[in-house]
Amino acid sequence: MIYLDAAATTPVRREVIEAMFPFLTNQFGNPSSHHGLGEAAAEALAGARREAAEVLGCQPEELTFTSGGTEANNLAVKGIALARRASNSRRNRIVISSIEHPAVFESVEYLARVHGFVVEVVPVGPDATVDPAVFASVLGAGTDVALAAVMYANNEVGTVQDISVLAHIATSAAVPFHTDAVQGAGWLDLAVYELGVDSLALSGHKIGAPKGVGLLYLRGGVQCEPLVHGGGQERGLRSGTENVAFAIALATALGLVDADRQARVQHAETVREMFIAQVLDRVPGALLTGHRTRRLPSVASFCFPGTSGESVLLELERNDVICSSGSACAAGSDEPSMVLTAMGIERSVAQTALRFSFGADIMSETLEKACDELAAAVRRVQRLRS
Ligand code: PLP
Repeated sequence: MIYLDAAATTPVRREVIEAMFPFLTNQFGNPSSHHGLGEAAAEALAGARREAAEVLGCQPEELTFTSGGTEANNLAVKGIALARRASNSRRNRIVISSIEHPAVFESVEYLARVHGFVVEVVPVGPDATVDPAVFASVLGAGTDVALAAVMYANNEVGTVQDISVLAHIATSAAVPFHTDAVQGAGWLDLAVYELGVDSLALSGHKIGAPKGVGLLYLRGGVQCEPLVHGGGQERGLRSGTENVAFAIALATALGLVDADRQARVQHAETVREMFIAQVLDRVPGALLTGHRTRRLPSVASFCFPGTSGESVLLELERNDVICSSGSACAAGSDEPSMVLTAMGIERSVAQTALRFSFGADIMSETLEKACDELAAAVRRVQRLRS
């Protein structure tokens, strides 16, 4: 099988399983317990937080473990917006980009529907980039804005935003700035102080940790209402007995992908460029989506007019090549991707989209083989539809 859907999920790395295994078995204590077993679990959890903080270049207390990227985004978006408005009722606007993941998009939709916030959406250009000048003009003076959020790297087309510039604009207007960095982990710089963000969401299963664990960086001093109430774990921000094993898994995976990031990026960019060139050359009518260069090293996304993305995907799967038609979260619906239509791509073309995403261990020969299969699959589907 040629697995080209790493942006949907990745297998758990062996080193990660080994690191978390003891905390699922003999070291099973509850970190809140006042005995040796509990204290050992608390110590291990603190160690995981320190390790993750090292990668993000922040203080361990600024990190909250969650059940995934979705929860980390929900907590930041809802928690910060609600806290900011509670301290000043004029702050009723939320500004987001038009290509956010549903974890952010649906959170602000909820805030509008249930809490009466006004949501303003910053459009993106045809390559899915947010123009800082447009972002600044939507933000305005910022005095009535509770929160701004722009994702670091897009999950469907891989476009990477100039997050430090956008964060600086928001900070200058005294508006807290959140970024969804779920797809950026392992590829992009996550040094949060340098990025200048107030909060940043990560997910474990995109980088070799299990599904069901995530992380939220929340800059010290930024007010955030908890969404889950109970025993006051995670400094009161996220109650519930901590998942020590998964926190260790996430911290281990984050450390591993950070350790060889430069080499991984260099290799992935080289093979991605080769793959893009081959696809554009060999697949009739192929259109690259997303920014030509400011994109994740691991993502190549295209539209193949005259096909249907789902049909090509099934053809490829029949030939052992696994990819995605748009994002996994949106899969199963006939609606064209909101991200592609927000980029100005016509609905009928957006319905032909496929995303190929891979890990750093991908070989150029593997992608060559995938390109052979893709060219054949597109030809078959085009023939059937003509
Ligand atoms: N944000 C982005 C950009 C994603 O790609 C995903 C997952 O696909 C998420 C958030 C959600 O993360 P999780 O699956 O850990 O809830």
